[in-house]
Amino acid sequence: MKVDEIQIVKKIQETLKSIQHPLLKKSIVDLNMIRHLEFQSGVLSLKLTQLSPNSIYNHQVEDSVRDALAKISEITDLQISLNWEVSGGKSAQNSSLPGVKNIVAVASGKGGVGKSTVALNLALALSKSGAKVGVLDTDIYGPSLPTLMGLKNTPPLIDGEKKKMLPLEKFGIKTMSIGYLIKDEDAAVWRGPMIGRMVQQFVQDVLWGDLDYLILDLPPGTGDIQLSLSQMLSITGAVIVTTPQDVALADVIRSIAMFQKVQIPILGMVENMSYFSCPKCHEISHIFGQGGGEKKAKNQNIPFLGSIPLDNRICEASDLGKPILESDLESEQAQKFLSLASSVSDQVCLANDRKIEIKL
Ligand code: ADP
Repeated sequence: MKVDEIQIVKKIQETLKSIQHPLLKKSIVDLNMIRHLEFQSGVLSLKLTQLSPNSIYNHQVEDSVRDALAKISEITDLQISLNWEVSGGKSAQNSSLPGVKNIVAVASGKGGVGKSTVALNLALALSKSGAKVGVLDTDIYGPSLPTLMGLKNTPPLIDGEKKKMLPLEKFGIKTMSIGYLIKDEDAAVWRGPMIGRMVQQFVQDVLWGDLDYLILDLPPGTGDIQLSLSQMLSITGAVIVTTPQDVALADVIRSIAMFQKVQIPILGMVENMSYFSCPKCHEISHIFGQGGGEKKAKNQNIPFLGSIPLDNRICEASDLGKPILESDLESEQAQKFLSLASSVSDQVCLANDRKIEIKL
């Protein structure tokens, strides 16, 4: 390389180092987002590796890089190759489930708020951009994943060598549920101290392979099972699902307190069944009042991740075993889940931030 080219490369490196990631407020170079840089005869080729395929900041970061480099007159041709790599935080490092980079728990203070619906559609939304995603349904009292996925009475296969269960794959994601192993009526009769240990064993007996995100659908409430799973698995963070009519805020506070007790970051709160969007005239009615979830999140000092409408298409799609993300990706409801996935992936980045290795 010629002497003046070495100077230009230095200038390019300094320019890139001065660009901050808008969310993490750190240099994109320090975040290891520039993986390759080559400059020759005015042509600059670089590889920009985004921290997640779903982040709402991806375009902004790319634009900042292009704008900053456009100011360097010696660059006559800029070739940026884009890719992404989801970083793994404590889930990956403690390898409670080998190959799984991030475990995101989806929890609620009580049952019936749509926790499982949100968990599954969040997983599908995350996978739409190419991330490798799994869902683990540990809701022992009402495992709904088999119904939601249209996989009732489909027992999982066993890997002969490793003696572990293979997750069922459908709609581009991997899933495992206690409901794949037992009949609905049997689930209700499981009680007592044995359950906790059975659930723990079940969770360890699944061969997930490589996953960017494992969405963990926890049973509702804050009992021993939730607590022991939270301690056993290295959970990246928790998403709390609530509804506007869930005025008994005590449930939600208990849920948040449980995660805080075991030092699991709260990624944020989602308000499900937020408002009714008329399928005919598209008028929006806030039948349970407006802004309750957002206010709740603010009071608790946790991020508000989004609102999902109350919509019979979500309910029908779930009952038919074809989630809304699969039956109508263009619908407003599906778009809400896609934007929830973006917020969650960004919060995962924040939670992992301290764990990101600096390789440059
Ligand atoms: P949980 O896991 O909290 O017990 P589920 O996800 O099983 O709740 O949902 C309970 C019921 O509410 C299901 O029949 C589901 O289809 C329905 N449901 C969930 N979210 C919505 C929504 N946003 N709009 C309409 N129905 C919903």
